[in-house]
Amino acid sequence: MDRPRFLADEMLGTLARWLRMMGYDTEYGRGLLDRELLELASVEDRVLLTRDRQLAERAGSRALLITSVVLDEQLEQVVSAFGLEADNPMTRCTVCNAELEAAGADAVAGRVPERVLELRDEFFVCPRCGKIYWKGTHWDRIERTMERLRAHSR
Ligand SMILES: [Zn+2]
Repeated sequence: MDRPRFLADEMLGTLARWLRMMGYDTEYGRGLLDRELLELASVEDRVLLTRDRQLAERAGSRALLITSVVLDEQLEQVVSAFGLEADNPMTRCTVCNAELEAAGADAVAGRVPERVLELRDEFFVCPRCGKIYWKGTHWDRIERTMERLRAHSR
């Protein structure tokens, strides 16, 4: 199966951020009408993640109805439905979903705290919004969460 791409509805912004952290292309449909969400999912070949039962029914096989309001359970549902792995972390901006570009310490000097520059030499920069990432910001949390999800699905 190709790596799935997602479109999260307005109620699932946090889930969208986590899927991006795991390296999955996830658009966040904030402010979009139902028919706009359906059209975007179809045009861009994305799985619509929604908490809205009616919308999920309209989208048919193109949607996954998210049944829980708890982030961990939402993640678990998506991970098990699509067999996701956090095998490509640090590839997507969690804010805007653009693909990150690798950068050396020189390129980010002055834009990250000094102590981080001393500890790290590998950075990832968002070409769209300029946010800078390095292993340590979200990394530990992703790894812990993925371990927990894997333990669950065994
Ligand atoms: Zn960005």
